[in-house]
Amino acid sequence: MAADALSEMYTRLMDHFGPQSWWPGETPFEVMVGAILTQNTNWGNVEKAMQRLKDAGLLSLEKMVELPSGLLAEYIRPAGYYNIKATRLLNLCRCIVTHGVGTVAGFLAQPLTQLRAQLLSVKGIGQETADCILLYAAQFPVFVVDTYTYRVLSRHNLVGETTSYEEMQALFMDNLNADVKVFNEYHALLVQVGKQYCRKKNPACSSCPLYGI
Ligand code: SF4
Repeated sequence: MAADALSEMYTRLMDHFGPQSWWPGETPFEVMVGAILTQNTNWGNVEKAMQRLKDAGLLSLEKMVELPSGLLAEYIRPAGYYNIKATRLLNLCRCIVTHGVGTVAGFLAQPLTQLRAQLLSVKGIGQETADCILLYAAQFPVFVVDTYTYRVLSRHNLVGETTSYEEMQALFMDNLNADVKVFNEYHALLVQVGKQYCRKKNPACSSCPLYGI
């Protein structure tokens, strides 16, 4: 049963790694900025870019939305793909202003389905980034799926090659209680096991906490 396997995985990962307490970010807006900056790069580079924005006093919706794209790109240069990401950040800021009546809190307070549709309408925000924002910034019980999720689940025969993002997400959301804290931790724990054990090449199965499931 998928439900049993998913619960067993969570218990073992939590016992092994402990709480991950994601997502780093002092405000929901910082979490949203981080969700875009982390696309195609590691978190260390995101932190450098975030620090530059923070030092310049630009880590707020009001300040960022006024920035020219080229200048924002310079500040976030350490995160890589900085021109594209600057455009995406500004797209997101404009979306927040339009739908949130000018405030981040107003934007995130919208109903889940409406908010998800608005996030997905922003050029450069796909399902993973949208769901990160929904879970970690808006605190909705939405499961975030990424490449680590797929790798672990597929190697344990819980999904197949053609399983879609939505189907993988439904696997968790249909089989686990809708709990923001659990979904928060579970996603972070899958990233940990993916990085440390379930590597793309040469997975370290014999020492992995999920061995035998
Ligand atoms: S490393 Fe092996 S045991 Fe661990 S999650 Fe990957 S496939 Fe499973």
